Amino acid sequence: MPSTFAYEWNTPTYKGKTSFNTGLFINGQFVDGSNNTTIEVVNPTTGKVITSVSEGVEKDIDIAVEAAQKAFDTVWGLNASGSVRSELLWKLSTVMEEHHDELSAIEALDNGKTFGWAQSTDVAFATKVIKYFAGWADKISGQTIETDERKLTYTRHEPIGVVGQIIPWNFPLLMLSWKIGPALATGNTIVLKPSEFTPLTAIKMCELINKAGFPPGVVNIVTGYGHTVGAAISSHMKIDKVAFTGSTLVGRKIMEAAAKSNLKNVTLELGGKSPNIIFNDADMEKAVDWTTHGIFWNHGQACCAGSRIFVQAGIYDEFLKRFTEKAKAIKVGDPFGAGVDQGPQVSQIQYDRIMGYIESGKTEGATCHTGGSRVGTEGYFIEPTIFTNVKPDMKIVQEEIFGPVGVVIKFEDEADVLRQANDTTYGLAAAVFSQDINRALSTAHKLQAGTAWVNCANQLHANVPFGGFKQSGIGRELGEYALHNYTNVKAVHVNLGHTL
Ligand code: NAD
Repeated sequence: MPSTFAYEWNTPTYKGKTSFNTGLFINGQFVDGSNNTTIEVVNPTTGKVITSVSEGVEKDIDIAVEAAQKAFDTVWGLNASGSVRSELLWKLSTVMEEHHDELSAIEALDNGKTFGWAQSTDVAFATKVIKYFAGWADKISGQTIETDERKLTYTRHEPIGVVGQIIPWNFPLLMLSWKIGPALATGNTIVLKPSEFTPLTAIKMCELINKAGFPPGVVNIVTGYGHTVGAAISSHMKIDKVAFTGSTLVGRKIMEAAAKSNLKNVTLELGGKSPNIIFNDADMEKAVDWTTHGIFWNHGQACCAGSRIFVQAGIYDEFLKRFTEKAKAIKVGDPFGAGVDQGPQVSQIQYDRIMGYIESGKTEGATCHTGGSRVGTEGYFIEPTIFTNVKPDMKIVQEEIFGPVGVVIKFEDEADVLRQANDTTYGLAAAVFSQDINRALSTAHKLQAGTAWVNCANQLHANVPFGGFKQSGIGRELGEYALHNYTNVKAVHVNLGHTL
């Protein structure tokens, strides 16, 4: 029998408790993994184990796929109307609202993000995404296409079937909502794997999915490691589509596995090294605020983090001074502490990785302008860090650090900054700051990125597509575009008297 995780908070920002089963969620029930093994979940604030969750293995994916297929064939897929799917998704969003603070606290505990941000961003946005896709569920329709008068031709947007979904640890609940929202709205059934580092909100959601009334087998959640459960999903012969969010390295593996198995349809939301460009004529104060948010939001653990900060020569010194003051003012500490802006990084592995990048920056000759050190003696806290005097080929300029580390680079003119900004294998997002609308928009249009922000950063909305150019991904999440990832288009030709 899977165990129960019970936890009580009594902190300056949250008093409350939670309790939930920590098993795999298959066919509407919590079960042990086939090997009866577990994965330890660590609190990044202390580095100590808080609980263990069931570990799924390949066999559990087979069992989950079978449950998902059965649900697809009997109670979901073409057997549940759009309005039924819509009502269930809406119900799920209302159940999430009822558990808003509890979900936020679990996320802060498990991931290390601040309780306040978990409330206002992760859980609020995840709930909104589910509501948004509830609205789409009864509006999935094809087209009638004119051919000749003795034929009726139309398209149907049919669900794909059993879809596999693999998500990362940086926005655990939010990424889950981006995945399950459009998949369920379009009538697919799901086998989802959360990150082994942050499985808790996904597991809590299983209880809420049951509470909302989804038929068993429509959503199955299997916790486990990437090289076992993740690999089993991406190579499974009976999963017709895989949607992945995570690193470009693993995205490549997913695509290979899909190609080598059943050529399943693949969508990928991958890494980034986003440019954040500030022209001489930008509103300085606002540009500093947004740039700080751009790189340090979620402790730098955002795929779209504005980690390469390009500042035009005329304002470089003043901008750097003000940006440094802002970075130094960020309060790092316990995610449940009052007034805390930044909690710990998610894991020892990520902590070591980021500190390795900071060391490499120093060794390669960049100037560590502020930050660069550990905060405290336990947990995975790192100071907000800014590097200057960087060269284009340095690792800290080229590679995704995924931590609170930004590089500031001086540029001369528009052509110079565009060349540098686009000099990356990534293409997820970009931000431009200028009060000249022509300059701002012409730069935004020339940047090779799936999202371009003008005079803001890290803005995401349920109804606006998000995804990458180049090696930042394939396909789009959110908005109407996300629905295309989860439907097969069928063309139906009806002969009304047409002869050969
Ligand atoms: P990761 O690629 O290490 O892991 C992501 C998921 O893939 C996890 O669930 C992991 O267990 C699984 N996985 C690992 N190896 C696998 C394998 N061989 N086969 C199948 N699955 C496997 O990424 P992460 O460290 O969890 O997350 C950080 C990365 O995610 C960053 O690169 C970040 O930019 C990216 N990300 C992108 C977006 C986006 O929308 N573009 C959003 C959030 C995060």
